[in-house]
Amino acid sequence: MKKLNPKQSFNQFASDNYAGICPEALQSMQEANAGFVTSYGDDPWTERACEQLRQLFETDCQVFFVFNGTAANSLALASLCRSYHSVICHDLAHVETDECGAPEFFSNGTKLLHVHGPGGKYDLAEVERVITRRSDIHYPRPKVLSLTQATEVGTVYTPDEIRAAGELARRYGMKVQMDGARFANAVASLNVAPADISWRAGVDVLCLGGAKNGMAVGEAVLFFDRELAYEFDYRCKQAGQLASKMRFISAPWIGMLESGAWLNNARQANDCAALLEQQLTGISGIRIMYPRQANSVFVEMPEKVAAVLRSAGWHFYSFIGSGGARFMCSWQTTEADVLQLSAAVRAAVSDRQK
Ligand SMILES: *Cc1c(COP(=O)(O)O)cnc(C)c1O
Repeated sequence: MKKLNPKQSFNQFASDNYAGICPEALQSMQEANAGFVTSYGDDPWTERACEQLRQLFETDCQVFFVFNGTAANSLALASLCRSYHSVICHDLAHVETDECGAPEFFSNGTKLLHVHGPGGKYDLAEVERVITRRSDIHYPRPKVLSLTQATEVGTVYTPDEIRAAGELARRYGMKVQMDGARFANAVASLNVAPADISWRAGVDVLCLGGAKNGMAVGEAVLFFDRELAYEFDYRCKQAGQLASKMRFISAPWIGMLESGAWLNNARQANDCAALLEQQLTGISGIRIMYPRQANSVFVEMPEKVAAVLRSAGWHFYSFIGSGGARFMCSWQTTEADVLQLSAAVRAAVSDRQK
């Protein structure tokens, strides 16, 4: 069979999940492959991965591993709610726009109430308005505030902003869930301890991304309040999220955390996005839509320029956020990739001006 080399033939800034498995994660999978171990998570790799996450987060949290982010978010939300509750989320939130109703499905009908806010982040006054606009029995009772960190449009909540959101939620007896598909990128961007933008700032449950950070598959769900994890193992099993060969989902975390790759990968992706932002700034007809704070750059560009880029083989999304082109960098993106894209954008713009 002819060998494929996707990197050579594929110019992409579409998503961080277009990237492969980073060497540290792959090596851990190799090591975990050396013989028989017990199944369904009852194995030394899983135990060690959990222990390392507890060390990284400096707290004795309860840890679960699931296959993907949709499962992590929707099962975490379902575990915090009854069917007559509601979850407050941003109107661009992945749980609202990209999970095919899984949070509602797994919670047997818990309603998502969306709140608009600039730059993919909440305006807390608006959140409070949604929480308090009704208190009667006809309205689904707000029970969880869901935050995405880094956000869907590549911005980042500061520790103070998360703390304020956490205080607001607690004032109304609500819990805080964080969609951390790109949590590592936020940590790298803010240069803070993971605890400072999670439990220390009032987050009760964190869905921590693995796949976009460089693993093959899998996300971790961290319950900082262990009581909230009651019977979560059954919920995972029922939802088809209990891996029988769990070690291949858990072991990569060990390699990623021990080597520091989880943070280095995020830094690499963020740095590439920063370089891209710098390269695109000032090109006529190109406008950066949001402050670049993590690993993506959102760009407003003439339709013609986008079409020229696509026909030159560049892959990128334009349906996420509010309609611009999204250029997403990953651990595998290089400076050369960024410069190549920037040159292609400049060429497309000048081509259009001819
Ligand atoms: C990618 C992503 C997820 C996880 O999506 P899956 O495809 O289900 O793994 C969750 N939240 C955000 C913000 C994401 O970008």
